[in-house]
Amino acid sequence: MATAHIIGAGVAGLAAAVEMSKAQFRVVVHEQSGQAGGRCRSFYDNTLGCTIDNGNHLLLSGNKSALSYLDTIGAGDQLTGPEFAEFPFVDLKTGERWSIRLDRGSMPWWILNKDRRVPGTRLSEYLSGLKLLSAGNRTVKQLFAGQGPLFERFWEPFTVAVINTTADLAAARLLTPVIRETLAKGAEYSRPLIARHGLSATFVTPAIEWLERRGSEIRLNDRVSAISMDERRVVSIETGKGSELIANCDVVVMAVPAWVVRSLIGDVSAPDRFVPIVNVHFRVDNPRMPLMNNPLLGMLNSLSQWLFVRDDVASVTISADDDAANRDANDILNTVWREIASEIGQAPDKRPARARVIKERRATFLGTPEQLEKRPPPSTKWQNLVLCGDWVDNGLPSTIEGAIRSGQTAAQRVVQLIAS
Ligand SMILES: Cc1cc2nc3c(=O)[nH]c(=O)nc-3n(C[C@H](O)[C@H](O)[C@H](O)COP(=O)(O)OP(=O)(O)OC[C@H]3O[C@@H](n4cnc5c(N)ncnc54)[C@H](O)[C@@H]3O)c2cc1C
Repeated sequence: MATAHIIGAGVAGLAAAVEMSKAQFRVVVHEQSGQAGGRCRSFYDNTLGCTIDNGNHLLLSGNKSALSYLDTIGAGDQLTGPEFAEFPFVDLKTGERWSIRLDRGSMPWWILNKDRRVPGTRLSEYLSGLKLLSAGNRTVKQLFAGQGPLFERFWEPFTVAVINTTADLAAARLLTPVIRETLAKGAEYSRPLIARHGLSATFVTPAIEWLERRGSEIRLNDRVSAISMDERRVVSIETGKGSELIANCDVVVMAVPAWVVRSLIGDVSAPDRFVPIVNVHFRVDNPRMPLMNNPLLGMLNSLSQWLFVRDDVASVTISADDDAANRDANDILNTVWREIASEIGQAPDKRPARARVIKERRATFLGTPEQLEKRPPPSTKWQNLVLCGDWVDNGLPSTIEGAIRSGQTAAQRVVQLIAS
């Protein structure tokens, strides 16, 4: 039986492992850390006294690759979200509140109704979204700024949330497939979804259990330190356990982050600028959100960008903000708590003692047009080696959906390559 060696057990590596197992390969996953999941994982936090995610991760119901992966591993019911495709916002400077609520089907009736639009926006601003179809190398700001409040109230926060890059730098064309696969298809494809019991319980543990039931090996604390190739193929990989020979029929799927790949394969192009995401968690008694049954709130003109509530933990995401990533944690906690306390029915002057700031310094690559040029395709010049990860060219921003699709595509590609 041919063996597929998967290097890296983030969601891209796990998705590739699942595909290779479906294609009847014996699967061995090599993961350098003691826990699978990479940038999409949960852990027990002593300060909060509960298990939390390394960061709030939002998906949309149109994320077809992530949903098909979850269905395969038996975790299709592990995502949860509001019944409607509704995104509530508050502007902390003006006090205005509004919700973007999408209609069923691809016709966006809501933009025709002044009362359902973002306050102060005109119909023509929404129609200018069609410019995305010819975005070329322009940034989101170059495409949409100066046309009215829709830029500050939709395009800017949407860009930061989806690309983790500010609108003045972000390549507008990265938004196009996201919108095409979700918002443009209507409410059924645009419902916000979060992991019901955390990221590991949703994306990681069920995958490992599924793989192990099929005879796969998941080797934790098993860093791959080198790989050797001849002209055509990978011939061996070095792990802590020594050198492992790669037989003629075996394949290697490289699923490490962009900043690691060049240490293993010198001759590969990869994005080399990264952006932080800061997450702030508070353990709160009985947090209440402004909209019943909606666990998220977009916040403008504040340090806090998105507020999420799950059980008794209120969490805030601050994306694409280097200043926040360099700011003192206590200072962040004070500012964020003052911003969110009244939103969740709490007293602003009573900051919970159980609070925590987590800074992921390299959460995603910087989504500029220049960095996109550095994304490589999944196939390499070596017949039995493919690449996957959120940074490999898959048209999508650095997201769970992009990483999973990349893992699935790479696995399918290598199966075709060795069959040909
Ligand atoms: C705080 C935060 C918030 C985010 N929010 C969202 C969100 O709301 N929605 C969304 O869709 N996405 C979000 N993302 C992005 C998403 O988490 C990533 O795009 C995705 O998890 C990347 O998966 P990956 O498998 O490509 O890479 P990784 O998760 O980085 O996995 C790579 C794996 O390779 C392992 N590895 C590295 N070197 C070696 C080696 N030499 N040998 C063996 N193993 C090795 C690593 O330990 C790691 O487990 C967020 C990310 C962060 C950090």
